[in-house]
Amino acid sequence: MRRSVNPSWKIRHECPQCGAPVVLDETDRILACSYCRVRLYLTCPGHPRYYLAPGESCSEDIQYVPYWRLKGMAFSLRTNHIFHKIIDSTAVALNVPSLPSTLGSRPQVFPLRFAASDSTGSFLEPGISSDGVSIEGATPIRHGSRVHRPGSSEWFIGQTISMIYFPVASRGGFLHDALFDRPLAGPADALSGCLPPHRGSRWTVGFVPTLCPNCGWDLEGEPDSLVLTCRNCGSAWECAGEQFKEVDFLTMPHTEDEDIFLPFWKIRAKLDGIKPVSGAVPFRLAGIPGFGYKAREEDVCRFIVPAFKIQPRHFLRLARSMTSRGLHPVPHRALPRSALYPVTLPRAQAVESLRVILASMAVPAPRTLGLLTEMAISPVHTRLLYCPFIVRGSECIQPDMQIGMSRHAMYWGRLI
Ligand SMILES: [Zn+2]
Ligand SMILES: [Zn+2]
Repeated sequence: MRRSVNPSWKIRHECPQCGAPVVLDETDRILACSYCRVRLYLTCPGHPRYYLAPGESCSEDIQYVPYWRLKGMAFSLRTNHIFHKIIDSTAVALNVPSLPSTLGSRPQVFPLRFAASDSTGSFLEPGISSDGVSIEGATPIRHGSRVHRPGSSEWFIGQTISMIYFPVASRGGFLHDALFDRPLAGPADALSGCLPPHRGSRWTVGFVPTLCPNCGWDLEGEPDSLVLTCRNCGSAWECAGEQFKEVDFLTMPHTEDEDIFLPFWKIRAKLDGIKPVSGAVPFRLAGIPGFGYKAREEDVCRFIVPAFKIQPRHFLRLARSMTSRGLHPVPHRALPRSALYPVTLPRAQAVESLRVILASMAVPAPRTLGLLTEMAISPVHTRLLYCPFIVRGSECIQPDMQIGMSRHAMYWGRLI
């Protein structure tokens, strides 16, 4: 399940402990130094900031132009259909027409570096927020929430937002691309009205030792995992700010024949706005346990959502299958010995996806879209659930529920 050929962007950094060069994938959360063997969890307040270093032939004063980098799953609900796509793009964050609208292939050709509070150079303040940028074919998408449009709603889920600074110089009265060493269309004073940002503590990249806060043992996890586990005391941890916080988890019963355990977020959420009225539900939902029954918690539903990024159609299919089939037999709290697939979708983004999952489970009706966009969804409890899968050729299969998934889709999902 490890990534073998990885086309993701690379980040060059130095090991904070020994100074040796380290190359990270854009999706990596852990810096692992092959020289001193230290493993550190990376923290970036807000969103990560990177810059592209200018070419050696550019000796002029460099200004760094901000570009938003957006990746994630975009869903739009129009009348009775859900459309989805993967967003993976950059967009200039300044209202300066002569700048390239995107970074194109530059970050694939040149490694990125962390832009920190002590990075030298003139970094410019973004003039366009990440909510306001134009991304081809899916604009504007408000991250993690909905955009009101007549007859449709759109959501951007599992998003990774980062900022990439691109170096430009002034040469011969024109702006100059200091990376490819070629002129841009704009005059040299095109950036004169742009301001430098306040570079405070939010620009600091932090490193947290990957040691179990409970017993001091080395925490395990793949480089891109948001949750690390301790095999010594059987605990799971996620980084919140500058420290690890214990993660409540359960594991489905297994037989030791399974090859890998996939993580899911088990979410209990209160749905306000579609509560049954006079014994009739406003629209029918296919197979969500607890919904529509005035038992213990008539308006609290339980969802099981993939805790990993995967292509949108597989994400919805898995969430529907797992949610509607329920958990039988009852899971328990013990870490399995087999490999754990990395958690790459934060729980907050899993909660944001519930509206899309509900939309995919709803029986289409004229009022469905309006009800879905208007209802309030409040998570009551979230917990990580490890579910056993066996590998059969190109498929990963859950043997009890007979739910299959393409390993190819899982591979590409790790690059979202
Ligand atoms: Zn080192
Ligand atoms: Zn421990």
